[in-house]
Amino acid sequence: MRFDSIIGQERPIRLLTRMLKKGSIPHALLFTGVDGIGKQTTAVALGMALNCLSPVGVSACEECPSCQKVISGSHPDMITVKPDGAFIKINQVRALSRQLRFAPLEGKWRIIIINDAQAMNLEASNAILKMLEEPPKGTVIILTAPQTLDLLPTIVSRCQQIAFRPIPYEKVAEILLESGLDKQTATTLAVSTKGSLGKAMSVDGEKWTIWRTHLLEQIASLSIRSVQPLFAFAETLARDKDRLVDALDMIMTWFRDLLMCKVSPGRIINKDFITKIEHASQGRSIDDLLKKVVAVHAAQAAILRNSNPRLALEVMIMRLCS
Ligand SMILES: [Zn+2]
Repeated sequence: MRFDSIIGQERPIRLLTRMLKKGSIPHALLFTGVDGIGKQTTAVALGMALNCLSPVGVSACEECPSCQKVISGSHPDMITVKPDGAFIKINQVRALSRQLRFAPLEGKWRIIIINDAQAMNLEASNAILKMLEEPPKGTVIILTAPQTLDLLPTIVSRCQQIAFRPIPYEKVAEILLESGLDKQTATTLAVSTKGSLGKAMSVDGEKWTIWRTHLLEQIASLSIRSVQPLFAFAETLARDKDRLVDALDMIMTWFRDLLMCKVSPGRIINKDFITKIEHASQGRSIDDLLKKVVAVHAAQAAILRNSNPRLALEVMIMRLCS
């Protein structure tokens, strides 16, 4: 939980340590970026550094009683709010306001971390806005969200935004490799989790490999199938809602690899499928393969817009096989 242990977020850490050195911490910060890249960890690290009793430079010592309480999740001045079900609700924000009427209990600072702030419903958003308009003394409010567009503009304008970027996939792969995964699994998992170390680390490598292999084998054999199995494949994909986005990402890496096979074979990701990739790439033009990438992308966009996933997948599969 120290700043130097946060991976791949040099710029946000540099900005925060500069603020700490100057002693000018804004009363509200907004950390944006996809899940699993260190926003929440950094928020906790900042809170821990602010209240550390014997900081090392500007970083927390991780040993003093204050740091120990943060690590065990029992520091009374570190308050985390997260969605209760799908939303952060007004009663959660009301409970928070009641706590804010009093000065910090133990620390110099009180840190409020609102995780997934995009999940605040309108009532909760307005209540937080009020809090940001009249910031309580000695309090730092840190909101985390995927992007500023997910929040009320009035909330965004009252926070100092710090953008967290996806971690380079080579870096994620390196860490996965160190954690005991084989090279092929580490690389493909790192690519398909798009720089989200948290997501990559939460996956069961063995189960994931079985799922990936099965999916790629189905995709590899698509063009030689008759129509009926194609629709069955679309239906299977649509039914596995939790993994649908991941499945489409995987399908995307497949067509990316078919393209790479033509222009830069060294950059193929699914190296364990090289023979099938070479075979599938033969006789297809770059133009044709680019169209297939567009088809997968269109399906992803339609599904994210909450369109009928089965319909979007059927259209995609027809395009992939044409
Ligand atoms: Zn400490």
